[in-house]
Amino acid sequence: MNESTKISDSVSQLNLNQWMFESSPDCVKVLDIEGRLLEMNRNGRCVMEVDDAVCLAGREWPSLWPEASHADIRASLLAARSGQVGRFSAFCPTVKGTPKWWDVTVTPILGDSGRIERILAVSRDITALQVAKEMERENAARLQFILEAAQVGEWELDLATGTARTSLLHDRCFGYTEPVTNWSMGRFGEHIHPADRQEVESELKRAVMGRVGWRSECRVVWPDSSVHWICVQGSIYRSPSTRAGRMVGTVADITLRKRAEALAEGQRLALEQAVSGAPLSTILDVLTRAAEEGSGETVMASVMLLEGKRLRHGSAPSLPPAFSRAIDGVEVGPSVGSCGTAAFIKRPVVVHDIEKDPLWADFRDIALSHGLRSCWSQPILSLQGKVLGTLAVYRDKCWTPTPAERESMGLLLNTTALVLDRHQQATERQQAEAELRQMADELARSDRRKTEFIATLAHELRNPLAPIQSGLELMNVPHSDPESLVRIRAMMARQVRHMSHLVDDLLDVARITKGTLELRKEPIALQDIVAVAVDTSRPLIDAGAHTLRLQMPDVPLMLKADPTRIVQVVSNLLNNAAKYTPSNGHISLIVERDEGMVQISITDNGIGLHPEALSSIFEMFVQVHKGLDGAQDGLGIGLTLVRQVTELHGGAVTVTSPGLGSGSTFSVRLPLLQNSVLDESSVQPANLDGNRSTAQLRILVVDDNVDAAEVLVELLRMSGHEVRVAHDGFQALELAEASRPDAVFLDVGMPGMNGFEVAMTLRAKPHFESVVIIALTGWGAPGDRAQSRAAGFDHHLTKPTNFDDIEILLASLAPASAAGHILAMRPHVQG
Ligand code: ADP
Repeated sequence: MNESTKISDSVSQLNLNQWMFESSPDCVKVLDIEGRLLEMNRNGRCVMEVDDAVCLAGREWPSLWPEASHADIRASLLAARSGQVGRFSAFCPTVKGTPKWWDVTVTPILGDSGRIERILAVSRDITALQVAKEMERENAARLQFILEAAQVGEWELDLATGTARTSLLHDRCFGYTEPVTNWSMGRFGEHIHPADRQEVESELKRAVMGRVGWRSECRVVWPDSSVHWICVQGSIYRSPSTRAGRMVGTVADITLRKRAEALAEGQRLALEQAVSGAPLSTILDVLTRAAEEGSGETVMASVMLLEGKRLRHGSAPSLPPAFSRAIDGVEVGPSVGSCGTAAFIKRPVVVHDIEKDPLWADFRDIALSHGLRSCWSQPILSLQGKVLGTLAVYRDKCWTPTPAERESMGLLLNTTALVLDRHQQATERQQAEAELRQMADELARSDRRKTEFIATLAHELRNPLAPIQSGLELMNVPHSDPESLVRIRAMMARQVRHMSHLVDDLLDVARITKGTLELRKEPIALQDIVAVAVDTSRPLIDAGAHTLRLQMPDVPLMLKADPTRIVQVVSNLLNNAAKYTPSNGHISLIVERDEGMVQISITDNGIGLHPEALSSIFEMFVQVHKGLDGAQDGLGIGLTLVRQVTELHGGAVTVTSPGLGSGSTFSVRLPLLQNSVLDESSVQPANLDGNRSTAQLRILVVDDNVDAAEVLVELLRMSGHEVRVAHDGFQALELAEASRPDAVFLDVGMPGMNGFEVAMTLRAKPHFESVVIIALTGWGAPGDRAQSRAAGFDHHLTKPTNFDDIEILLASLAPASAAGHILAMRPHVQG
């Protein structure tokens, strides 16, 4: 190489350096060895926004930088001066203040002598990179904040190796409080609840194969064995270098959400079932299950229902059955376990530790033996605040519910109350409907019975009327044979008695039904009553050719009873025994003492009763043998009277029968009078047999019905009395003055002056003060009797009057002789 070539070489080298200096995109500066700025390339001036390069010349390079980077600059200058390369990155705004980040390399420039003569500083604008990094940092921080706020963990899984990187939040979702360093796909699988494992695996496989996102909701088992819900999501990223790629995702603990969902779903289902009329136990099972699922951990729930003052089992699908049985029927009280107490105080009761709480004293052992350690019970209240039952939650560990748990269980409690309220209303409605139906049936039945009764009554009344009518016709035949006339009269008297009986029975039933029957109770020996009843029924018993066996204790059994009524009871039963037993039957009447009661049993071997008839036979108008061969006529009110009269005496009547054709036994139980078994000597014989006196009396008969008056006059005269007759009130007063009668039979309903006025006028006169005045009237109601008593009547006989009754009455008026006896009489109106 020649000289000119060398020069041109060095020139061209100079030019090249200059060209490179100027064309570099970086900010290139030449400094002197002290670090003063000698030169800056064009691009440098441009990026540093330097308009006037001259003013920069000679400036200390570090002085162009912010204070913060001076140390770095000095260190790099020092390095350059010692022949090394200094590097640093720092922030330095442009001359005009635009913020810039620089990556700076400081190198020595050697002179021809090989000594360091200058320093080259190359600043690369890395602002864009720095901003990107800053943004990335910011984004990462923001993401972290969001994940933490949402309690979402993140993870990254290497699909090729199955190893993973996880965040602490991720690890917490699996029950770890410290970061897990060696998380892997296998470890994840182990935590998944066995019941959910298969599904999660197939969901993950589908995602990997189809290169789509993965999302699973499943239960995980924590190291302490508790079960929680997670939601895990991920998406696949493939890098060009690896085929399998990686999966990045999040995981969140959704236990609370799942519990809330279970509670809501349970309530929805229960309400749906309630509307569709499912059985209460099914609905309560759904609600208790919801309570259990809504509480997550090992919780057992139960619903108990209030019945009276006790709590009865409603639903407890998970509680040990032996424990449920033990607390079934627990009484509501101020310290009876959790449920009994909660129902009593109408507020929730939390028993944190069953072992220590005195409320559980009575049930502690059984609870602990079944692993129940805590119980939270809440009263189920209706809209009106009425306790319907309790909802309890048991756990196998000591525990107090959190506010969130109280809140979510409160909703379930409301739904349970709604369901129970609705059920109760429906039950009450059904009961009311059933009662209404029963009433309607009963009404229809009683209506039918009444219709049958009216037909029977018409028939029964027509029966005696026919012979009476024929009797009358026969009596009208002139020159009738006197003997046959006697027979006809006797027949007619029997028929009239029969009719009066029917009417009396009807009136009695009406009086009892209206509660107006007056009992004239007196101490009386039952044996006397039975004797009279037997006498009364004797004709019917004899007509059937039955044998009657009587068995009674000898010692008198005293009752406080209305003798007439009890005779009626016993003779009704004897009559029935005679009526409903084919001829030549056997009837027995047995009187037995049983503690403070006496029992009269009347047994026959007659047509008996079907078991179904036993319950209805005492009802009004019931005739179970209607239409049967051997059944006799009647009105179906005799037994009603028997029962009502017996009950009015504080007794009861029952019937038994081995069945149709096998006879029956009617038993009447009556209370004995206290200290009632008396000496025979102390027993007052009752005036039941109508000991009749035929002592002669002066009698005045007053009746505007001439025929009726004449018949009575005739009968009284035949009995040996001295009788006068008047057909109106005025005549009656005159005759009374004239004849001074012992007794006056006074018709009440008369034109002009009626019987009441006559009685009152007589009573107003002192000399008639003791005359016995007997009302004869068709009106026998208690009001009529009271009215006649007020007017001064002593007795009240209803028409048609049985002459036997008149004779009994007159006999009671005349002790030995007619004179002066009336003053000794006890006046009363017979009822
Ligand atoms: P009545 O005899 O007038 O029909 P009751 O009230 O006395 O009315 O009796 C009601 C029904 O009870 C009778 O119709 C008859 O069917 C039945 N009954 C009563 N006593 C007996 C009895 N001793 N044996 C069988 N059936 C009887």
